[in-house]
Amino acid sequence: SEAGARGVTPRVLVLANQKGGVGKTTTAINLGTALAAIGEKVLIIDLDPQGNASTGLGIDRKSRQVSTYHVLAGEASLSAAITETVVPGLSVAPSTLDLLGVELEIAHERNRSHRLRSAIQSLSGFEVSEPFTYILIDCPPSLNLLTINALVAADAVLVPLQCEFFALEGLSQLLKTVEQVRSALNPDLSIHGVVLTMFDPRNNLSGQVVADVREFMGNKVYETMIPRNVRVSEAPSHGKPVLLYDLKCAGSQAYLRLASEVIQRERALRAA
Ligand code: ADP
Ligand code: MG
Repeated sequence: SEAGARGVTPRVLVLANQKGGVGKTTTAINLGTALAAIGEKVLIIDLDPQGNASTGLGIDRKSRQVSTYHVLAGEASLSAAITETVVPGLSVAPSTLDLLGVELEIAHERNRSHRLRSAIQSLSGFEVSEPFTYILIDCPPSLNLLTINALVAADAVLVPLQCEFFALEGLSQLLKTVEQVRSALNPDLSIHGVVLTMFDPRNNLSGQVVADVREFMGNKVYETMIPRNVRVSEAPSHGKPVLLYDLKCAGSQAYLRLASEVIQRERALRAA
């Protein structure tokens, strides 16, 4: 992607899985917070009409005057949608339910799959106090035009997989879509990694799922697993990432480890 102002090019990672409830939004919020906590400058782009990432970051509906709907509809720049959160160094481009309709509105536009990519490329470091080093895109539970926009805009895909019996079902469909986007629209797209979520060490099935996923995806699977942790599920109702709600809990600690693993992989990729 193009170098932004002041020579900083943000790494654009997309959280994608067409299954709902696997931890995409939770990972966007808490990986974003953990990256910000270790000094990265992070933007989360909420591309799910449900707006759970925006809500979980404490952005109420009234503060979403300019949203990702306006960005994709071509009515506003991405920088106009950027809103600060309670987390220093973490901003969000919020979404609203309007986003449900944008797919139909832009269905016949020639650049319909590239809207988000163009919006990110036009982000200028001069419009924000410090340029972003990471952009995380939270996707809806579908392989629709919104998710395609995210995949076209991204450098790499991060796949949250829930440790449950059907975890691998649907993964091949997702990998196929990533492959199609890579060959037709975004040759630089890669799989960053698979993150296992809601792991329960007391559940034998969880362990079996982990073994299966590691066998299928090899070293693409992050070592860090996110445990099932009630503090993680409570935090959004307080409009906070779990790291602000309860830094010491197992969920927060796991997201901090995931962030350092993500950064390590980035370093390895850059050195390669
Ligand atoms: P998605 O964005 O893929 O639909 P979410 O991130 O919204 O999934 O997670 C689905 C539900 O599971 C939410 O209610 C969330 O709070 C809960 N959840 C996610 N991760 C965890 C976890 N590690 N421990 C406990 N609950 C979790
Ligand atoms: Mg979600």
